Amino acid sequence: ASMSHEIRTPMNAIIGMADLLQETTLSPVQQEYVNRFSRAAGSLLELINDILDLSKIESGHLELESIPFDLHDLVDRTAESMAVRAHAKKIDLLGDPTRLRQVLINLVGNAVKFTEQGEVVLRVEPVLDQPASEALRFSISDTGIGIPNDKIGTIFESFTQVDSSTTRKYGGTGLGLSISKRIVALMGGRIDVDSLLGKGSTFSFVLRFSTPAVPEPLSAIP
Ligand code: ADP
Repeated sequence: ASMSHEIRTPMNAIIGMADLLQETTLSPVQQEYVNRFSRAAGSLLELINDILDLSKIESGHLELESIPFDLHDLVDRTAESMAVRAHAKKIDLLGDPTRLRQVLINLVGNAVKFTEQGEVVLRVEPVLDQPASEALRFSISDTGIGIPNDKIGTIFESFTQVDSSTTRKYGGTGLGLSISKRIVALMGGRIDVDSLLGKGSTFSFVLRFSTPAVPEPLSAIP
């Protein structure tokens, strides 16, 4: 925690100062420099956050929360921030909403990033063959560039992208899937990928949630 504090504090100061600088009177050239400086600082913060997360997960220090959360609200807010549509049932679950949201943002973010036209769909469905449990299938489908068959095994490795031109064209750190895979594994699931080159991809995983204990109903008055 202290290392991440040491790294994030100066980074946030750099970003804050760039923001303040942008509000002062600048020549067009200076404005352009500050814009670049600000964008670079943002990418660096994203990379730092990813690396800190990954090292926390790899050292076994990521502790998942188990707090009540509203799935409908979580999916809705995720979808809203990624500008896609989603529908889900209102269910109260126990789990780690922050980490679940992180995984969804990663997968939906990739889907949006690698899709030029068509659609990105985020689905949450109950797993029907297991009616007794609170198992939900999350799937993110896109109509984007797809992933070559021989690369599907490697995209989950850290700092790995399908090809080096990906970084130049789309940006990114190559850490998102690596982190998402580990978080989903910590939650007891596994991410599956189904992809057709040039047609699109579907990333999906099933998670089992418990529901908060419901208070005993008051005994009926005879
Ligand atoms: P990043 O997106 O930062 O590059 P990720 O670990 O999230 O890193 O993804 C690794 C690589 O997997 C991507 O660079 C891309 O080549 C490939 N990939 C991930 N999601 C998709 C997708 N929905 N469609 C096509 N390629 C994808």
